[in-house]
Amino acid sequence: MSKLLIGGEWVDGMSADVLRDKYRDEPYGEMAVASPEQVDAAVAGAEDGVWSSTLSPYDRYRFLLRAARLVEDRMEECVALMRAEAGFTRADSENEVRRCVQTLELSAEEAKRLNGELVPMLAASGAKNRLGFTIHAPRGVICAITPFNSPLNTLAHKVGPALAGGNAVVIKPSNLTPLSAVLLCEVLLEAGLPPSLLALVHGSGRTIGRQLLADQRIAFYAFTGSTAVGREIQQAAGLRGVQLELGSIASTIVLADADLDMAIPKIVNAGFRKAGQVCTSVQRLLVDRRIVGEFSEKLVAGVKATKAGDPAHPDTIVGPMISLAHAERAEAWVAEALAGGAEILVGGKREGAVFEPTVLTGVDPSMKVVCEEIFAPVISLIPFDRADEAVEQANASPFGLAAGLFTSNIHSALRLSQRLRFGGVHINEASSARVDVMPFGGVKDSGFGREGPAYAIREMTEERLITVSY
Ligand code: NAD
Repeated sequence: MSKLLIGGEWVDGMSADVLRDKYRDEPYGEMAVASPEQVDAAVAGAEDGVWSSTLSPYDRYRFLLRAARLVEDRMEECVALMRAEAGFTRADSENEVRRCVQTLELSAEEAKRLNGELVPMLAASGAKNRLGFTIHAPRGVICAITPFNSPLNTLAHKVGPALAGGNAVVIKPSNLTPLSAVLLCEVLLEAGLPPSLLALVHGSGRTIGRQLLADQRIAFYAFTGSTAVGREIQQAAGLRGVQLELGSIASTIVLADADLDMAIPKIVNAGFRKAGQVCTSVQRLLVDRRIVGEFSEKLVAGVKATKAGDPAHPDTIVGPMISLAHAERAEAWVAEALAGGAEILVGGKREGAVFEPTVLTGVDPSMKVVCEEIFAPVISLIPFDRADEAVEQANASPFGLAAGLFTSNIHSALRLSQRLRFGGVHINEASSARVDVMPFGGVKDSGFGREGPAYAIREMTEERLITVSY
């Protein structure tokens, strides 16, 4: 049974929801649901904690590093937990844990690096005998609201830099994957974080999520999730700070001179890991028409070797989607595309919540599989005649999170990458080639603000100026 973390204590909720394994549909635990009074107490406790905290940046560095080691020590427990609650295969879970460890380590380093600057006062007239410098002060209480598809590492990207910057954090994880967040909180407390700096509440986004948005004691919202919820958070936040990591339709472009033996395994991995439920998964795959025959043949062979099914089976690469309803929605979109004239190159079948890795061709821009975020193991292969046309097609979306571009020509790489309107463009990588040290975030409807501890810590602290006349 999971508990809530409020005022430094683990407590029961007002009720408990049964959690079911995403592949076996058997119960694996319970989620304590917070009452409105408990949500209120969680924010109050965090507010008391942050302003009475005396932790130095070095203390923050030490406990974040210890937390990284403790997550690593609990690898096997995390693998079993994320298999049940997220449907992850061993490879997906191990990757999630390794990245979470690294995000905590990077956050620890940033606690020591967070520094203001000396202002060159004498560069302006009227500042003789005046010294100026900036500091980065904590914002106060930061609220982390997270999605289901990266239950540990996305949370670490919020909590790590927030704590490194001296803030308190109130966490509201996805109801679909709440126990990974409990594990991360246990680890942080065991590592020596003063309990009053951390709170964890569970419940529905529409009820306790909205209560958190209305709570003016919260200074900053660090959110990852859908664009619809992101818009609501932006509106509710008013003049308070936000980091919004939102939806996406990620494109990857393959030029005729690309090294296909390098590109195809990367595209298969980026399209289908975590059952395609990654914000940067390849959804639109734009391929030069001159190589589309050879490319399709090699891609189909790669996809056929990508086994879907029970995430506990060592050969499985694509586990179940997060729920039967999510898989049925993807199936309906594929059916709609087929009715409109698209064809299946490989895959296309659903069994329970498992959706086979699928590649469609013959799609058109008005089909949902192309123009809405599918968040499923489904790639649409779209041939193009000119590289500029591929860039236009990739840009023709309300979103702009990440894109990939395969080419062996440095001139094309540099020219085209600067015209792609995405938060990140990865040359000779697929769209999901993220490393946790990078500045990561979107443009357009994919949101704003940047993850990556070195960038996020600046957003999660206030830059203030101090001057001294002497
Ligand atoms: P979601 O928006 O449904 O939920 C995200 C979180 O918001 C959950 O904790 C949910 O309970 C909470 N929430 C829901 N309604 C709320 C409200 N009215 N007020 C406050 N909180 C509320 O997203 P999801 O289905 O869990 O995740 C999938 C989405 O996340 C996709 O769109 C995907 O692209 C996006 N995502 C983006 C990134 C990125 O870095 N840009 C990374 C991962 C996932």
